[in-house]
Amino acid sequence: MNLSDQIKRTKRPYLISGPCSAETEEQVHRVCADIAQLTDTSLLRAGIWKPRTRPDSFEGIGEKGLQWYVEAGKKAGLPTSTEVANSKHVELALKAGIDVLWVGARTTVNPFAVQEIVDALRGTQTPVMIKNPVNPDLSLWLGAFERFQKAGLTDLTAIHRGFSIYKHPKYRNVPSWEIPISFKQNLPEIPMICDPSHITGKRDLLAEVSQKAMDLNFDGLIIETHPTPDQAWSDAEQQITPERLKELMSNLVLREKIITGSLTEELDDFRQKIAVLDDRIFEILSARMKLSEEVGIFKQKNNITILQEEHWKTVIESRLAKADEYFLTQIFVKNLMDNIHQESIRHQVKVMNPDLKKP
Ligand code: PEP
Ligand code: MN
Repeated sequence: MNLSDQIKRTKRPYLISGPCSAETEEQVHRVCADIAQLTDTSLLRAGIWKPRTRPDSFEGIGEKGLQWYVEAGKKAGLPTSTEVANSKHVELALKAGIDVLWVGARTTVNPFAVQEIVDALRGTQTPVMIKNPVNPDLSLWLGAFERFQKAGLTDLTAIHRGFSIYKHPKYRNVPSWEIPISFKQNLPEIPMICDPSHITGKRDLLAEVSQKAMDLNFDGLIIETHPTPDQAWSDAEQQITPERLKELMSNLVLREKIITGSLTEELDDFRQKIAVLDDRIFEILSARMKLSEEVGIFKQKNNITILQEEHWKTVIESRLAKADEYFLTQIFVKNLMDNIHQESIRHQVKVMNPDLKKP
């Protein structure tokens, strides 16, 4: 099969589903059959070897699961995909008849491991999906694609699964949507699938993140599905039943990517108004920085340092307290004020040290 072509030809969203891990023969057969019967899944997923953060977690059923899975896929009439992390996994998965391989987030971070997989696949036309690395590094993700492409492996698809962060209040892995968007600008021909299961880590957030991915023109979704999610041996909190997957998919709102006819003019109307407001924002910022320079001159005359920490703390606090009133999020207000502060410092440095030589 040619996966990337198939994704591009399929009506959005191309759906990949299946359990986090293959656990027992019965579980694999049951979930694959239910998925085929209830949902519009085009490709199955199941982990055979699981890269787990802690060694006491379930690390995958291993080789014997491959046979169950390939047979269950055949019975269900659906192609199969699994994660590979080294050349041995590649060899065993291909021998067993797995159709598509994916490179996990913990492998994409390591160019040695990626290269080992590339070398094991050289000369084949195996479809490969590459997850983003655990850390928010676009180059590392693009670099993995370049390694495959250089070896003549061209049937490639990207999976956005979010980025690791210590104790985020909402997400298991923060989505940082700007990274997959930049990826698409760099490699527009590569289909982009969103993995709401690993982004959220919680089944209640799957619909929200899936909808966002659709509104950002993602080509498809990969969602973990299990016959009895609460009893799953890995990632129990984020898995859903095939029934619930069906419901989630039918509630998605699919909007048009291309704007046509009179809609273009109506949208242009809004955009022109926005452009006028953006101009005003810039004029105000520019005036604000002129005032910062006057403050800089005052501080220089009176021999006062630029950074006045206590004052800045009260400025930020007073703005954050008003965020709700202006319908702005706390994080936006914080980032905006930090950026304004940085720029203000640059302007003050310039006027206070006019003779400072540029390096
Ligand atoms: C998985 O898909 O089951 C998995 C381990 O994901 P990730 O590589 O995104 O952590
Ligand atoms: Mn998982």
